[in-house]
Amino acid sequence: MSIDRKVSITKISQSKLEATDLISPIFGKVYSDHMLRCDFKKGAWQDLKIIPYADISISPANSTLHYAATIFEGLKAYRNIHEEIVVFRLQDNAKRMMVSAARMCMPVVPESIFMTGISELLKVDENWITNHPGTSLYIRPFQIAMDPYLGIRPSDDYTFMIITGPVGAYYSQPLKVKIETNYARAVVGGTGFAKTGGNYAAALKPALEAQKKGYDQLIWTDAVSHEYIEESGTMNIMFIIKDILITAPIGDTILNGITRDSILTIAKDQGMEVEERPIAVSEIIQSIEQGNLQEVFGVGTAATVAPIKTIGYNGVDYELSDVESRKYSLGFLDTLDKIKSGVMEDKFGWIYKI
Ligand SMILES: *Cc1c(COP(=O)(O)O)cnc(C)c1O
Repeated sequence: MSIDRKVSITKISQSKLEATDLISPIFGKVYSDHMLRCDFKKGAWQDLKIIPYADISISPANSTLHYAATIFEGLKAYRNIHEEIVVFRLQDNAKRMMVSAARMCMPVVPESIFMTGISELLKVDENWITNHPGTSLYIRPFQIAMDPYLGIRPSDDYTFMIITGPVGAYYSQPLKVKIETNYARAVVGGTGFAKTGGNYAAALKPALEAQKKGYDQLIWTDAVSHEYIEESGTMNIMFIIKDILITAPIGDTILNGITRDSILTIAKDQGMEVEERPIAVSEIIQSIEQGNLQEVFGVGTAATVAPIKTIGYNGVDYELSDVESRKYSLGFLDTLDKIKSGVMEDKFGWIYKI
C-alpha cells in the first residue's frame, strides 16, 4: 500500500503493556499506548500524527458535544498462525465510514488516510496483539466536528482519530432478547444506516427498560408498523428456517454490517439458500410454533456470532433450540475464525496484512 501522507510518530515514554492483561481485558476500558490523529482544517486533511494515548482538549461549545456530529467504525486486528498482523475487511470499513460521513455532512476521510492510519498505528502498537485464541485488538476510528460554535450547521473543522484496545476471548452467552414494539431505533429517511452517535444515544432507554425485565438486548422492528424485524442495534439478526438463512434487507434503517455480509457470502459459497427480505414478526412466531425455526443469532464485529436462546414478544418468552447443537451458526463462526487465523484460505480477499 502506498503511503502518500506524512506520518509523524511520538512514542510514549513508559508503555502500559506490561501492566495489562491481554488475555481477558475489560472490553472498552483498556487502551493501547498510542492513538492516531488527523485534523481537517481550512478545507484539507493535515498530516497524520501518532501520539501517546491521552485526553484531548475541546471547546465547551464544540458542536459534537451539543449536536452529536460524530461518526465511528469498529473493526479488529488479529495475530495469525504465521505471526502476521492482519485486519479483517479493512477497506470495507473505510468505505462504510464514507457513507456515514456523507449522511452527516462531514468531509470524507480518504481511504489512504484510513488505511495508512490503521497500518502505521498497528505497527507501533503491534505488541498489543497476541495470538492467544479468541483475542484481538479492537480498532475504533472516529470523526468529530471541532468548531466551537453553537449554531446548527456543518462544522468547518473536523478531527479523525483512531484508538485501539485489546479484546479478550469472547465466549458469548446465549442471549435473551425482546422484540421491541413500542420504541424505534431508525426511521425511513433517517440515519439508521450510518454509524453515528445519536442512533446509540436514543437506544439507551429502550434497552434499559428491556434489561429491567430480564432481557439482554432488543430486536428492533420497523418504526411504522412494528411488524417487521430490523436489527439489534449493534448486531444484525439472522434466522434459519427450514435450512434457509434469512435476514432483513439493507436499507435506510438497517446498518450494513460487514459480519452480516461475510456470513451471507460464506453461506452462499457453501451452497446454502439465502434470503434477504422483509421478515414479519408473525412469521417468526409462527415458525417457532411450528417447530421450523432452527437458529437465531446476532452478527457483528464485537461478538462475531451471538446465539439467541430466548425471544420475548408481547409478554411471552419463546425458548429456542439448544445453542450447542446449532450447526449453521457454529459453522459460520468456525469458518470466520479459520480465515482470520490463517488456517483457511482467504478466498474472498478479506484479510489485509499489515
Ligand atoms: C456496527 C453495527 C452492526 C454490525 O456491523 P459489523 O460491521 O458487522 O460490525 C450492526 N448494527 C449496528 C447498528 C451497528 O452499529
